[in-house]
Amino acid sequence: MSVIVEQLTKRFTAGGTPAVSDVSFHAPSAAITTLLGPSGAGKSTLLRLIAGLELPDSGSVRIEGVDCTQLPVQKRGIGVVFQSYALFKHMTVRQNIAFGLETRRLPRADIEARVDEMLRLVQLEELGKRYPGQLSGGQRQRVAFARALAIRPKLLLLDEPFGALDSRVRIELREWLQSLHEQTGVTTLLVTHDQEEALEISQHVVVLSDGRVAQAGPPEEIYDRPATPFVASFVGGTSVLRGSVRSGRAQVGTLVVAAPQSAREGESVQAFVRPHDIKLARAANGDSELTTSRVERLKSVGGYVKVLLKLPSGETVTVEVPRAEFDDLGVVEGDHVHADVRMAKVFLGDFA
Ligand code: ADP
Repeated sequence: MSVIVEQLTKRFTAGGTPAVSDVSFHAPSAAITTLLGPSGAGKSTLLRLIAGLELPDSGSVRIEGVDCTQLPVQKRGIGVVFQSYALFKHMTVRQNIAFGLETRRLPRADIEARVDEMLRLVQLEELGKRYPGQLSGGQRQRVAFARALAIRPKLLLLDEPFGALDSRVRIELREWLQSLHEQTGVTTLLVTHDQEEALEISQHVVVLSDGRVAQAGPPEEIYDRPATPFVASFVGGTSVLRGSVRSGRAQVGTLVVAAPQSAREGESVQAFVRPHDIKLARAANGDSELTTSRVERLKSVGGYVKVLLKLPSGETVTVEVPRAEFDDLGVVEGDHVHADVRMAKVFLGDFA
């Protein structure tokens, strides 16, 4: 394990709610680990504690076996990229990349060779003489990566590095980051609030909520076996429906779900339904129906439409319908539709 954080706590006001509260996690060596959570969850504070830009009230940070908890930033062997470019405007791309090497007093020839190597790595060989103001947002962020990697850090810390870019560039740079990581293999911690980005890019995910770790594990595990209702809904956009155990099975509205053997008669349960495990239809067509539901809200998101359904029970369910299917269906807000649930995909919460 390359980064080991143990029982880290940070308060900004004495006696106030901690921004980071008793956080422990491991980030595997040579992998990308994401710190995922909504705004205010404590992601940036945690990253800044690991970087040494903030000091914790208690707890420890070990990087490659070295206790760094009290070490200054420059002694930790880390590279950092923030959302805002933070490049030196009056320096060329080459000078920006060389900056960290010059402060380390490397010989000039080594610096020039390393800068060339970094320019090749981030595919900006042609732009070394430009100033940041003459680059696109995506290019500037690639320079920021080159500068962070030039010192050959043991650990790369990324705080929403694509957050300020438009969505097309952001998606391009996501793929670019994966291939960059394949080439460098440097242990990386990435802060993001975007669950799709986390699931796509990383090998390990730490989900944060209210300054605490809600769950940590590989992306498939986080998605398939969420440990809390918060993780289920934040990571999978999953809807929660309430029901109870009747004759050994869970009755959830009109749905009947297999219940665990340990379930007791009358016990209340929570059933989780993922947004792409529901098919909408104009007419009833099966026994997995979620009763006729009202279309509360429609939101087009690129290739699909998010449909918010209101069930007769008053509960709401989010459904994702591929664009072409949605156009065939032709529903508008206020319509009533039938919702066909892929029952095999519904799971019951097993939360303490
Ligand atoms: P995230 O990165 O997940 O959005 P942050 O780590 O930025 O969350 O913030 C976590 C909490 O700590 C928030 O309530 C935020 O207001 C508070 N916080 C962060 N930085 C400071 C600071 N420098 N001073 C006071 N409060 C802060």
